[in-house]
Amino acid sequence: VHPTAARRPHAITVRSENTLYTDDHITAKFFNRGAEVDGANGQFNITPTVQLMMIGVGGNNGTTLCATILANRHNIIWHTKAGVQQPNYIGSLLRASTVRIGTEPVFGKEVHVPVSDVLPMVYPNDLVLGGWDISGVPMDKAMERAQVLGYDLQRQVAPHMALLGKPLPSIYYPDFIAANQEARADNVIPETDKAAHLEHSRANIKKFKKDNELDRTVVFWIANTERYSDIIPGVNDTADNLLASIKSSHSEVSPSTLFAVAAILEGEPFVNGAPQNTFVPGAIELAERHHSFIGGDDLKSGQTKLKSVLAEFLVNASIEPLSIASYNHLGNNDGHNLSAERQFRSKEVSKSTVVHDMVDTNRLLYKAPEIGPKGAPVGKGEHPTTLSDSKRAIDEYYSEIFCGGRSIINIFNETPSSPHPSSWILTILTELLTRVQYRKVTPNAADQKEFAPLYSAFSLLSCILKAPLVKPCTEVVNRQRNALEGFLKACIGLEGSSDLLLETRIW
Ligand code: NAD
Repeated sequence: VHPTAARRPHAITVRSENTLYTDDHITAKFFNRGAEVDGANGQFNITPTVQLMMIGVGGNNGTTLCATILANRHNIIWHTKAGVQQPNYIGSLLRASTVRIGTEPVFGKEVHVPVSDVLPMVYPNDLVLGGWDISGVPMDKAMERAQVLGYDLQRQVAPHMALLGKPLPSIYYPDFIAANQEARADNVIPETDKAAHLEHSRANIKKFKKDNELDRTVVFWIANTERYSDIIPGVNDTADNLLASIKSSHSEVSPSTLFAVAAILEGEPFVNGAPQNTFVPGAIELAERHHSFIGGDDLKSGQTKLKSVLAEFLVNASIEPLSIASYNHLGNNDGHNLSAERQFRSKEVSKSTVVHDMVDTNRLLYKAPEIGPKGAPVGKGEHPTTLSDSKRAIDEYYSEIFCGGRSIINIFNETPSSPHPSSWILTILTELLTRVQYRKVTPNAADQKEFAPLYSAFSLLSCILKAPLVKPCTEVVNRQRNALEGFLKACIGLEGSSDLLLETRIW
């Protein structure tokens, strides 16, 4: 690199024996550590002993997820007005996307393999399905109520859904979800105090695990969005205070936090697919104390995913988004619950953080730390029931370009709300991460002797979560697919290969 054009102090200086700075040149030695791949014919199989226990299993996401897995498992082929449809896992980052693991030895052609081949992972067809719902409608009828899947598929998958029976009774505190959900709540745990609710859900997890002879039970909140819990010193700020508050049935302990505590105490991972602050500080401390695993919050695969992708594109193209304004409406029960003020607020908070990390990467555009695209406000959605599971979203990106010019990108997004595979992706990934262990090897005597599990909060799940839970004092990064890819490759000893492709650029 010849830096004569602008002689100024280097903003960063690499301290390495491979990098040399002089007045005229920066000279760097680079080891291109791509891997040569000979063709992968190995196959990994692992025993299918993973249970997915969903809280809110009778809702649109729960029933659609179960029906899709059952359609794949039983190879159900159905007719639509466009012809014959086969079951598949399109849309699943783990089942239908690939990763570059290196280049062929002779011609240097890139080798891409399915993400699911990098490490042994559970196959979604093998997940044992179950869960809780405050609505006691049996699973086949709940699928019908959701109005997500086509008639012919519903007709054929219904007998398999019927075998899942009625969801387990659940914990219902009317103060936490919208009042409009009350009519659904006909399947609730009879006990009235919170300690008994905790014991009840722990016993459910234990029994399911035992009945199905499972190694792992992933507990997943896909129930309605709750209001935020107030963080109150002495109530939910520490693990001990939270446990004491459960004992005394304190009103600020939500159903989702109770389920999280149940999973943590059972040593099973808990993932929160909705936006509320299930993981109050006391719950996080409890997970750390028990070396249990937690992940959240709020599934991300549609409008919000696009927002983080587009923000990355704009900021990296040195275009400055000045404001991002969003609006959406949907017709299903989730929309109904979110039409209430306090529940909508939880969603608004989780959606508003998805571009902050991109702003932080570019202080040339955003000069002061507090400046960023204004608000990213989310317009409060209407609830037109005629749309059923269909979701409409409008986002306007208003950006500054060269010499004060303005660019406006408007995106109108129309999609079914529930057929998105985040829940099983997160389950499979969660299960995989529970099996990863590490040992630090350093040149000094402070080597870690034993292998240890990963940190309790699985930040790697964040590739499909809106408001990622990360280790305290670490940053949220919304460009997480690369992180996941790099992590999976590191687990098999491959360095994260960049797009450098040096061999294509030199003699
Ligand atoms: P839904 O209303 O169809 O289903 C939620 C289910 O949870 C209902 O069957 C309800 O009876 C049940 N429920 C409510 N409180 C419960 C409790 N305490 N215990 C057990 N069950 C309870 O909603 P959905 O469309 O399936 O969405 C589920 C959740 O996922 C919502 O919180 C939603 O905000 C979140 N989410 C969905 C999407 C998406 O579908 N695109 C994206 C991000 C987040």
